[in-house]
This record gives sequence, structure tokens and C-alpha cells, in this order.
Amino acid sequence: MKKIIVDDDMCIGCGYCCASSDVFDMSDEGRAFAKDNNLDEMEESKKEELLEIKEGCPVGAIKVEEN
Ligand code: SF4
Repeated sequence: MKKIIVDDDMCIGCGYCCASSDVFDMSDEGRAFAKDNNLDEMEESKKEELLEIKEGCPVGAIKVEEN
């Protein structure tokens, strides 16, 4: 399964991903997280949107994990 995840240690809480998609939300600690992260079950357009946001993260904290 391919998942989109936010690396907690890298996220600087800039809010870009949360403002760009409702898939991302901000934790009380000021770190983003992905609420719906299973890329395999997403529509192609949604997947592409998330991958674009991934590229836009200023610190590269959004990653795709496969397991
Ligand atoms: S865009 Fe990157 S640094 Fe900014 S909140 Fe999202 S994961 Fe964190």
C-alpha cells in the first residue's frame, strides 16, 4: 500500500499543505498530518493533487511510503 505521510520531525508547521487540501490537518503540536493517506484508493486526480502539494512543501516533510 502506498501512503502519503508527513514526517513529524521535519514539518515546520507552515500550513501550506493544510491550506491546499482538506486531506491535511494540523495537530495541536503544530505539525501537519494526513487524515486520508491511502494513495491506492484515491482517484487519480486527487492523487496528483497531493503529489503536487508534496513537491510544494518547503522542507520536504511530505513523503510517500510504500509497504
Ligand atoms: S507544507 Fe510541509 S512544512 Fe508546511 S505544514 Fe505541510 S508538511 Fe509541514
